[in-house]
Amino acid sequence: MAVARNRSLRPGPVAGRHLDDGHGLWRYADRIAVRCHRCAAPGWVVRGSRTAGFRCLSCSLVLEEGNACGCGCCGAGTWVGPVRYSGRRPCGYCGHQWLHAQAHRAVASPPLEALPVACAQCGRSSDVSVSVQPVRDAESNDPYFGMPLLLVERTRAGLLWAYN
Ligand SMILES: [Zn+2]
Ligand SMILES: [Zn+2]
Repeated sequence: MAVARNRSLRPGPVAGRHLDDGHGLWRYADRIAVRCHRCAAPGWVVRGSRTAGFRCLSCSLVLEEGNACGCGCCGAGTWVGPVRYSGRRPCGYCGHQWLHAQAHRAVASPPLEALPVACAQCGRSSDVSVSVQPVRDAESNDPYFGMPLLLVERTRAGLLWAYN
C-alpha cells in the first residue's frame, strides 16, 4: 500500500523541485556519488575544470563527458541514463501524415533506431526512424552520464536523494 502511494507522488513534486532549483543544484554537482551502471559498484562522478568523468574501480568502466573520440559527435554516446525517442514519417502504405513514434526507456542501452507505428487511417504498421534525447531532468540520476545516484532513500513523502 505504501509503495503504491509513493509511486503516485513521485513524478510531480520531485520533478518540479529539480527543475526549479536547477541552477543551485549545479553548485553541488562537482562530486556526485553514483552506482556504476554496469556493475552497480559505488563510485564518483567528478567534474574537472571543463568536463566530468567517471572511473569505476570495480569493473574499470571509464566515462568522459563530451569528446569520447575527439570528434565532438560522441557527446550523446556517454549518456547511459533515461532517454526519450521520437520520430515521424508518412504511412508507407496509404501516405497518411503523420505516424508519430515516441518511447521512453530507463537506460540508453541498447539503443533503438526505429519503432513500429500503426497507421490511424489504414491500420497497417510501418517502422518509424527515431532520434534519441537524454532525459536530464529525471529524478535520482547524475546530470552528466545519467547513472543512478548512490544516496537515494525512499520515504513516505517520495524519493529523497543527494549528490554528495
Ligand atoms: Zn563498474
Ligand atoms: Zn496508412
